[in-house]
Amino acid sequence: MIYVADGLEINYLSPDEIHDWQPYREIPPANQRNEPFIQRLQDVGLWIPSQIAGRRWPIGCVSLEITQRCNLDCTLCYLSEHSEAVRDIPLEEIYRRIDMIAAHYGKNTDVQVSGGDPTLRKREELFQIVQRITDKGMRASLFTNGILATRELLAELSEAGLVDVAFHVDMTQQRKGYGSEVELNVIREKYIELTRGLPLAVFFNTTIHDDNFHEVAALVQFFRRHTDVVSLVSFQLQADTGRGVLRDRDQRITPDTMIEHIQAGADKALRFDTLAVGHPSCNRYGMAFSINGNLYDCYDDPDFIVPLLNATDHVSFSRTDRRATIVAVVRAFFKAPQLWAKGLTWLARKIWSAKADLWAARGKVYKLTFMIHNFMDACHLEHDRIHACIFMVASNDGPISMCLHNAKRDEFILKPIAVDGAEGKRLWQPLSGRTTPIDVEREQSNDPKIYPIKRLKGRTRAEALLDRSVNTRDAQTTYKTHVTTVNVEDNVQ
Ligand code: SF4
Repeated sequence: MIYVADGLEINYLSPDEIHDWQPYREIPPANQRNEPFIQRLQDVGLWIPSQIAGRRWPIGCVSLEITQRCNLDCTLCYLSEHSEAVRDIPLEEIYRRIDMIAAHYGKNTDVQVSGGDPTLRKREELFQIVQRITDKGMRASLFTNGILATRELLAELSEAGLVDVAFHVDMTQQRKGYGSEVELNVIREKYIELTRGLPLAVFFNTTIHDDNFHEVAALVQFFRRHTDVVSLVSFQLQADTGRGVLRDRDQRITPDTMIEHIQAGADKALRFDTLAVGHPSCNRYGMAFSINGNLYDCYDDPDFIVPLLNATDHVSFSRTDRRATIVAVVRAFFKAPQLWAKGLTWLARKIWSAKADLWAARGKVYKLTFMIHNFMDACHLEHDRIHACIFMVASNDGPISMCLHNAKRDEFILKPIAVDGAEGKRLWQPLSGRTTPIDVEREQSNDPKIYPIKRLKGRTRAEALLDRSVNTRDAQTTYKTHVTTVNVEDNVQ
């Protein structure tokens, strides 16, 4: 479907195209793992010298959803109407998906152990999952709201191989007693202290929507003060997908306006256009040195940074061992004499501009990475962005773009899964958790309205409350405030 806006043509996927677009099943040869992604970037004109995707890695990251359950009910949740009713998929299927990710993308792939909230999975199984990812030479990240994340749990997971923990904290979670993002900094501080001193890279995820957009600069100021622990902050822009009750995003919230707000909080003009990460409508990426609470742009000189990227595309950087990373960068730099003059000039300029802060901080330098991730609405999936997607979900049939997965999540999570057991091959049924003979395709109705209210969340619960006239006034107010009808065909030519 071609949509025309401001003279630009956008190719949105039609419902049939969304249905037909399948996961990537073909596994590339081990020595050509970057090739499929390079080809896709070439197809959409994004295989450019500043492109990180396909150079540093064959894929940005893969989300491994180990449960569909969550202990929160975010107003912008990407899970579906049926998620809460789906049982945790068997461990052997999780193992099979981990092996599949390794076969597609190889060592050092970033695997996000996510959900729902992954800490709701049995603790022993969570360790085994992280261990399996580590054994395959990949990097496990825990994506959690932090509610059940104790220091003991994180310490034990890091012993099992966990590399990063990414805490999701923001106003969409409706945590009781917090009226703004700034008030939520109490929780962020608690999580920072929880991880301090553990060998983990610490990230924070924030969903940006109409009600917290004005607080982005204040959030950046908060993270500036905690770069001794926090190394990456990711801002995810509101998208109309999943069961969340908030829907259309305010037109003011775009990757470009996000950059303005981040720069206001950073008090510096950070560049987000030096390096490309996949499609620029999806991802913007910037990085700064943090010295004495002040930020200094790492990517302000594309004439040095882009050739540096190309000269070091084979080098793997540790996120938990600063010394190892510095040694790797210095080694790579000395092996590229064509970069020496530009590199030394760049370094001298950095030291000179930060001299007062370097002195005050006694030479302590941290780094802070910013990601802006612009998820798409389920009914506005752009063909080129899905084709060049860097963010996969590990489905039963192979990796598939996260936006596409969210747009038809039920197709994946309600599909019975073939498992081997004592009785031979059987089908594991997502809604009952039982196995059935291979010819029994589905054993239960998929209508969410048959579930008790307490198992429904987001839009589904709001609809059910309306239908069942329970707490009618509250439910109707919430539901009518947030729900609008989206009809892409009004604008299709
Ligand atoms: S998940 Fe969506 S927004 Fe993110 S890179 Fe993929 S297509 Fe783009």
